[in-house]
Amino acid sequence: KSGEFQQMREAHELAANFYSHLLLNTVEGEKALQYLEQRGFSREHIEKYGIGWSLDDREVLSQLLQRKKYDMKEMERAGLCIMKNDGTGYFDRFRGRIMFPLHDDNGNVVGFSGRTLSTSKDEAKYLNSPETPIFEKSRLLYNFHNARLNVRKTGKVILFEGFMDTIAAERAGIMNSVAVMGTSLSDTHITKLKRIANQLIICCDGDNAGWEAAKRFANLTAQKGLDAQIALLPSKLDPDEYISTYGGESFVEKVIGNPHTYMSFILAFYKRSKNLTHENDVLQYIHEVLEELAQKVSPIERDLMLRQLSTETGVSAQALQEQFIKKV
Ligand code: ATP
Ligand code: MN
Ligand code: MN
Ligand code: MN
Repeated sequence: KSGEFQQMREAHELAANFYSHLLLNTVEGEKALQYLEQRGFSREHIEKYGIGWSLDDREVLSQLLQRKKYDMKEMERAGLCIMKNDGTGYFDRFRGRIMFPLHDDNGNVVGFSGRTLSTSKDEAKYLNSPETPIFEKSRLLYNFHNARLNVRKTGKVILFEGFMDTIAAERAGIMNSVAVMGTSLSDTHITKLKRIANQLIICCDGDNAGWEAAKRFANLTAQKGLDAQIALLPSKLDPDEYISTYGGESFVEKVIGNPHTYMSFILAFYKRSKNLTHENDVLQYIHEVLEELAQKVSPIERDLMLRQLSTETGVSAQALQEQFIKKV
């Protein structure tokens, strides 16, 4: 088994080098390279993160692996190749995509995420390696192997929704960030972070899905005893877009440097789609926040929140308190 894992890791290393070569040194990679440059990727970062390009060809990688005498059944289990329907051979899983290697905690390449250049909705924006013996989505955090030392040094870690945001954050000088691969944060992820950090800042996209994800992530980490702060982005931007628009300095100061506590995030969460000059919105807002408070226990936090809610809505703290007691 460990021999099989070793073969799979070796093949991924080979594939990553091949993809990187195609991006950096071939005519076929030029369009992708231009795209990355437009998005603010420096040559240094492209190389550091091992970014590449998978040709729009059905089987270049499969042929390379075959020439190197890899067991092709194993390569299929590793998620690099797929057997043809008629069983006569293999074609490549990733074709015509910008390739982002996914590393395990020791820095071995164990999977890929491929981004399409196309803006058409018919094509999935990202294609990830499937779950394999060496790649588990619920275990791997993007950039963990790079960030680990910096996280240990500072005690702080920043968690993003998208790995593109982690790469962009490096432009802002942030070297202690990781990202989930997809939208779920697992117990294993949290345990890993908890082991090396005592302070977590969650920074999700500013769109609706991002707000929902931030709330979910914060609840999950709190359940596991890791209290998070939540950094918010204005006007539906994601971290990468914010950095491109306003610059890294602003991101570090205004976004990461000014995170909300869970409680103040919750207020912002329920307030964001409301107009508090409308009575209906005010009532709905109070209802939602009290509902949330009923699930939290700390009397101090509750008191602070009720007072803030009172300031925001003009309803007396006493009335809010009474309403709250009725609820629980
Ligand atoms: P980009 O800036 O290139 O558009 P992003 O990081 O902003 O990328 P989001 O759409 O915000 O991408 O998605 C966040 C994360 O969710 C991605 O990093 C990826 O892991 C995952 N994801 C998004 N779309 C897909 C998809 N179609 N298939 C699989 N995973 C996806
Ligand atoms: Mn998003
Ligand atoms: Mn995004
Ligand atoms: Mn983005």
